[in-house]
Amino acid sequence: MVDESIQIGPDPGQGGRSGPDADDLSCPVCRARFRHSRACPRCGTELTALMVLAGRAYRLRRASVAALRAGDPLRARELADQAHALHATDRGRRLRAVAALLTRRETPGP
Ligand SMILES: [Zn+2]
Repeated sequence: MVDESIQIGPDPGQGGRSGPDADDLSCPVCRARFRHSRACPRCGTELTALMVLAGRAYRLRRASVAALRAGDPLRARELADQAHALHATDRGRRLRAVAALLTRRETPGP
């Protein structure tokens, strides 16, 4: 019998990573990392707008991945570029690189 009541708190198997790029969010003023808070825990800067943008970028990246899977790299590249303009992340950069490679058709030079 499995005791499921023990699974309270961070799951070590998940690495604590949840939500839209939670690890990538940091305060634009003091660089303190934050999660799910409307104000910076260190300097008190209002972060709601940043959270909204990050959430929008996250959804754009997911749509971009879906476009890649659907065989539409042009659309994927557009969406990844839009996401990057809102909130630049390492995952977003990788996604843009993949989409750019897949949409490269006529490259000048060798
Ligand atoms: Zn701050």
